[in-house]
Amino acid sequence: MEQISFRRIGKRRRVLVTGGAGFIGSNLIDRLIARGDEVICVDNLLTGSRKNIAHLLGHPRFDFLLHDVTMPLSVVVDEIYNLACPASPVHYQHDPIQTTRTSVLGVLNMLDLANKLSCKLLQASTSEVYGDPLIHPQTEDYWGHVNPIGPRACYDEGKRCAETLCMDYRRRFGFPVKIARIFNTYGPRMQAEDGRVVSNFILQALQGAPITIYGDGEQSRSFCYVDDLVDGLIALMDSPDDVVGPINLGRPAEFTIRELAEMTLRLTGSRSPLITMPLPVDDPRQRKPDISRARALLGWEPRVELETGLQATIDYFAETYVRVPA
Ligand code: NAD
Ligand code: UDP
Repeated sequence: MEQISFRRIGKRRRVLVTGGAGFIGSNLIDRLIARGDEVICVDNLLTGSRKNIAHLLGHPRFDFLLHDVTMPLSVVVDEIYNLACPASPVHYQHDPIQTTRTSVLGVLNMLDLANKLSCKLLQASTSEVYGDPLIHPQTEDYWGHVNPIGPRACYDEGKRCAETLCMDYRRRFGFPVKIARIFNTYGPRMQAEDGRVVSNFILQALQGAPITIYGDGEQSRSFCYVDDLVDGLIALMDSPDDVVGPINLGRPAEFTIRELAEMTLRLTGSRSPLITMPLPVDDPRQRKPDISRARALLGWEPRVELETGLQATIDYFAETYVRVPA
């Protein structure tokens, strides 16, 4: 097993973020560094990028470890955010066996580490545990409607098994575990090529390419801006030990994919045409979180309207990927 020891500086909180070079992880790390924590970022750079953490390399309270969470890890920390896992359907279906391995072996290794250190672990779960839900909005006590043998199952079932392991480790060993069920999140540092709807539509609009609507575009999602999501993750980690979850984190305002396309066109001023393409297999029809539990237990409420967050994301993509020549 890889043995890594980091020097402890004073009494600062030391936090491990797996998947920290990814979209959500790197936004989370920025916030933890800003509040004075020491952060160890673990990532194998499968879908993440050094660019997301480039501004932190050399920072005295930041360390990056190129490591695959399917292998055991030994570091000394006070808290673990386990985010390592490809998250977009295109990426997690690219190597589905590796996705299951990452979800299941990854959380097992992190739970073993948390148990050894008696430290807190927060698991990044997902609204995908509800599959193509039959109740609406989704409450945490809904057990879901997942196809266990379809192309999304590597992710959905991997994350469901990860939740099972979190609860079993907590029941057996008693250390604090927290489960966040994250709904569709968007914002700066989403990857351009990961095939998610927000990044696809923004890039297509900025480049004047056709906007690709899968199916009839009447399926819905509820989009949460990454800053709000990071607030929720930190509030959950900082909550009393008896707040375990699962807790839905997402913004309940629900939009059809066609409405998202139209808003993106309006905000970018693009004249891209809308085209339809086949709906992916097992694509969930409707998704909207019930966040009563997060409100009551964490006092958490997402604040950023879709239009505001989308504009900030458009500005990021325009600056990062579509520079206009001077
Ligand atoms: P992302 O792909 O940008 O980040 C995932 C990170 O994990 C990447 O940096 C990747 O390189 C790393 N990773 C993947 N496999 C690894 C492995 N075996 N070992 C070490 N690192 C590995 O995705 P994201 O959107 O930032 O998602 C982060 C977490 O949040 C994931 O666990 C995802 O399931 C969960 N989540 C995200 C959303 C969303 O809308 N973005 C929704 C629900 C849940
Ligand atoms: N989608 C779309 N066009 C795209 C990408 C996605 O219409 O170019 C649809 C997709 O079929 C799904 C929704 O947008 O109904 C959200 O897809 P995404 O991959 O972002 O997330 P998830 O399906 O995991 O919610």
